[in-house]
Amino acid sequence: MKGLAGVRLLRARLHFARRREQGQVWAYPLLKVAKFFHKVHRWTRPGSARNPKTGALPCPIPFREMVINCDGTVACGSTAQAPILEALIEGAEPVGLTGIWEGEAFRSMRARMLAGDRSACQGCQLYQCPGFEPLSEEEQTSNGGGAPRIHQLLIEPTAVCNFDCPTICGHSFPRSKQPVSARQVTFMPMDLFRRLVDAIDLPIDKICFYNYGEPLLHPEFSAMCRLMRERCPSSIITTSTNGSRLGDPGVRAGLLASGLDELIVSVDGASQATYEVYRRGGRFEDILRGMRLLREERDRAGLLRPRILWRYILFPWNDRDEDLAEAERLAGEIGVDRFCYHLSDLPGMASETYRPGTEAFERIRGKLF
Ligand code: SF4
Ligand code: SF4
Repeated sequence: MKGLAGVRLLRARLHFARRREQGQVWAYPLLKVAKFFHKVHRWTRPGSARNPKTGALPCPIPFREMVINCDGTVACGSTAQAPILEALIEGAEPVGLTGIWEGEAFRSMRARMLAGDRSACQGCQLYQCPGFEPLSEEEQTSNGGGAPRIHQLLIEPTAVCNFDCPTICGHSFPRSKQPVSARQVTFMPMDLFRRLVDAIDLPIDKICFYNYGEPLLHPEFSAMCRLMRERCPSSIITTSTNGSRLGDPGVRAGLLASGLDELIVSVDGASQATYEVYRRGGRFEDILRGMRLLREERDRAGLLRPRILWRYILFPWNDRDEDLAEAERLAGEIGVDRFCYHLSDLPGMASETYRPGTEAFERIRGKLF
């Protein structure tokens, strides 16, 4: 009976969505109502944490990833506002990362996922994110027996940003709802970071210096990367930036000395006009110039790292063929090491042209982030 209700609600939702697309104004409020009841249904029915089609868990993140916010609180995913509220290194006794990874909070989050209980995931945008690979059998059991290992550790140098993107971390977003308002500090203090580095007592495949905020605004960013590189010589270390600080020679020199493997620069447009729809406050030409200078200085120094990756998030306003062709041309001219696309998963900001399953999507599949 419950399953039938779900199908009916989904049908109603699709029906009103189509009518809305056809410009039928009456469908707007009805679509909202259908969406609401469909969501409530999905969240409340037993076993709702599993994808009804594939049976996959909605969120494999607590099995793969740990996020450390700039104030030292720990979360399971980057948009979760710390549902796992273990303070990393606040206590008098130093805590190893293994103690957290295998501790009560992470264990109970994994158990909830396996049981289909998503009650602790309210408000986390990662719930049922279509980009997730389903969890393998091995992953489902590995944290109960085998040697502990973190696939991806996200470290948030700061939750502050100098751009005003129309999303939760943009600075004109209601302050009370921004992640930065939930943090005890705005920049990760170096003594906290050093204690975090000392707490690493298990293998980590990939360490990402990003979460919310612009990482390169942290005045000690390069020193943080160097310390991490010394501690984890074989991990992949990466960061993601809006590129606004690359015009500063000191920042570029710091990056070249940082030991970073990869620098992801988010540039979602091929001109100032398409770029600034999302990256409000950014200057397209300056970002390109910064990338070019970094690449030239890296080459002159005979270095291979950091590899520079231009990431282009596809939105409805920047997905014309001409935009993509021009961005790829510019990337080639600058000499970035890789150019890739990313599909926006922000509500109302997904490119329809490049929806998974379309012919256009297939054309860029090999260039996806
Ligand atoms: S959906 Fe749930 S388990 Fe996944 S990251 Fe968010 S809060 Fe954590
Ligand atoms: S540049 Fe990144 S961190 Fe800054 S507001 Fe935009 S999305 Fe948020």
